[in-house]
Amino acid sequence: MRQNLALLLLVAALPAFAQAPPVKKKTIFIISDAEGVAGVCHQFQIEPKGTDMPELLHGEVNAAVQGFFDGGADEVIVVDGHYQGYNLSATKIHPRARLILGPLPKNLTFDKKYTALAFVGQHAMGNVQHAIMAHSFSSLGIQNMKVNGKPVGEIGIWTEIAGEYGTPVLFLSGDQAAADEVRAIEPNVTTAVVKTAIGRNTCDTMSAVAARERIAAKAMESMSKLGAVKPRPLQGPVTLELEYTTRNSLPADSANWPNTKVVDDRTIQFFGPTLLDAWTLYRGLR
Ligand SMILES: [Zn+2]
Repeated sequence: MRQNLALLLLVAALPAFAQAPPVKKKTIFIISDAEGVAGVCHQFQIEPKGTDMPELLHGEVNAAVQGFFDGGADEVIVVDGHYQGYNLSATKIHPRARLILGPLPKNLTFDKKYTALAFVGQHAMGNVQHAIMAHSFSSLGIQNMKVNGKPVGEIGIWTEIAGEYGTPVLFLSGDQAAADEVRAIEPNVTTAVVKTAIGRNTCDTMSAVAARERIAAKAMESMSKLGAVKPRPLQGPVTLELEYTTRNSLPADSANWPNTKVVDDRTIQFFGPTLLDAWTLYRGLR
């Protein structure tokens, strides 16, 4: 009798074992920026009012969204990453995209463990030659940013923090220098280069139409490489060094900030067991 009961229990439990694991929804998380968009080559073109930047930006973001859906994405989330984060409009964004406007938590919501990270309209880090409007987070306020002694910009910071949550970088559109920068971190990333720098504010750019076509095709293609890209977290402990511009010198009380070391009038190091910890410390203090 007892044997029969055990058999019965085993049979009852079988379907649960036989079931395939639940298929995870494929969510692509896009960070958009303005400086890497085709047709945008100078600061005066990205001050939102009176320029065609918003139109150019929407065109490229929407092309990427369409490409990801065509490649099999279930959900595409777009973060407006330029300036204060209010450049994109819900009236003009791809109808199937979800749009995030405004300031984000310090981990950019990567704790939601997206399937992959993508950049659209991205520029290179500060101090890179042959790069259009290269800067690291703030062209006015920050001269240099380093992580464990290596120069870094938005591409490196977000790719490595996403990596801490197991999310790999899949795709980038922008200028040639931005594409080179992301490839140095993730060799299997798919890139869509839409312009190259002749100088900091002189670009050889594709037309908007051609850039959108390239971005849509490459975004679609990238979806077939989801298995090839890997999360790229940094090995801790981490030192995040900020070298500010002269006008953004450190405040008088910076010597008393915890887990930091003032290097000189404009330079400070933030320490943490992970990049996200050091980043959170920095963003909380400055
Ligand atoms: Zn930027």
